[in-house]
Amino acid sequence: MNFLEERIQKDGIVREGNVLKVDSFLNHQMDIGLFDQMGAEWKVRFADRPINKILTIEASGIGIACIAARHFGVPVVFAKKSKSINIAGDVYVAEVESFTHKNVNQVIVSKDFLGPEDHVLIIDDFLANGCALQGLISIVQQAGGTVEGIGIAVEKGFQNGGKIIRNLGYQLESLAIVDAMDPTTGAITFRAQ
Ligand code: 5GP
Repeated sequence: MNFLEERIQKDGIVREGNVLKVDSFLNHQMDIGLFDQMGAEWKVRFADRPINKILTIEASGIGIACIAARHFGVPVVFAKKSKSINIAGDVYVAEVESFTHKNVNQVIVSKDFLGPEDHVLIIDDFLANGCALQGLISIVQQAGGTVEGIGIAVEKGFQNGGKIIRNLGYQLESLAIVDAMDPTTGAITFRAQ
């Protein structure tokens, strides 16, 4: 088991509805030493990519992306969840269905901060059905930029997102892939990587 799998095994809590709670080190309280190890690992895995920007989505992607950005020496842009229906033309917009909240958000990024010159690493905490990632990919495409890769902390391998994103041809690097989890026993099974 790698460092993240060990931590999930120790402190992750399996909830009904295919939800893994990792609030004590990732989603609420944040273990910055752990984030730093994650950033270092992505830097190794994307070493040959000309990344000049990291893109994530609020809220829980931001902390991870910021610490990862120290390893890449690049700025972080986060997509903002916007409730306004009339969105001005100076932003890129994508619709993202939230796995955890079961609602649809429009997410926006200002055209000032993403453009054709950008080679983007997308970072997020979880990959479930892939809606958040598809929204972020769409935003990079609208900007005319290049998605160089995608770094995910925890992929739930029993949901479809990973397969969809890999089939699209992206280099997807998930640091832990959960293949099964049982809310009654709390058991978590990781995919061998
Ligand atoms: P997707 O768009 O891939 O269906 O879901 C990804 C988003 O939903 C992530 O940004 C994450 O915030 C949230 N998410 C999905 N599954 C889980 C989960 O099991 N636990 C937690 N804490 N968040 C999740």
